[in-house]
Amino acid sequence: MSRSSFVTLLNYPSKLIENAVEEISKLPGIGKKTALRMALHLLKRDERQTLQLSEAIIAMRTKTQYCRQCHNISDEELCQICTNPKRDESVVCVVEDTRDVLAIENTSQYRGLYHVLGGIISPLEGIGPNDLKIESLLKRISEKQGTDLAVKEVILGLSPTMEGDTTAFYLTKRLKPLNVKITTIARGIPIGGDLEYADEITLGRSIVSRIVYE
Ligand SMILES: [Zn+2]
Repeated sequence: MSRSSFVTLLNYPSKLIENAVEEISKLPGIGKKTALRMALHLLKRDERQTLQLSEAIIAMRTKTQYCRQCHNISDEELCQICTNPKRDESVVCVVEDTRDVLAIENTSQYRGLYHVLGGIISPLEGIGPNDLKIESLLKRISEKQGTDLAVKEVILGLSPTMEGDTTAFYLTKRLKPLNVKITTIARGIPIGGDLEYADEITLGRSIVSRIVYE
């Protein structure tokens, strides 16, 4: 069998390699050929390095949790952002998922806290308000009202898509009775664009010059 047909047909010389390729190819953007190349690389390099990689993946998967307050991914019960005394707890930016937190953090323009909804309202996909961390946001704000830790502003950091608008509209309705200022960072992000893919400068500018949501 020629080399190219080996790759195309993927007749594996080992059941163990086949299993590894099968698992690696389940990752986003990784086809069978790339998975095979990775598997052979992992097999060829120093055994200790490959074991370190698998240990890092296992530790990440089994030891990370969600922050009790903001639901961002965290190593502890409360995340590093929520426990940082330099952050401004009077401002909370509501985002869809952890990738948005990373994107905003990368701009170095935001000093407030976050609230990760864990998704976005999408009737088409059957995701309603109860599937998201909305009640915990309302509870978090109402519990701190009248204290030194009161939330004064909620920034809606949601994608400017139909689902993002629906979620923003719903949140505004629920936040109204709590008397907090509601702003949005949507400006500067292309319509239908994803928060994650907005470039850092645009996103940074958007969060600094946020506008009152109406
Ligand atoms: Zn947190």
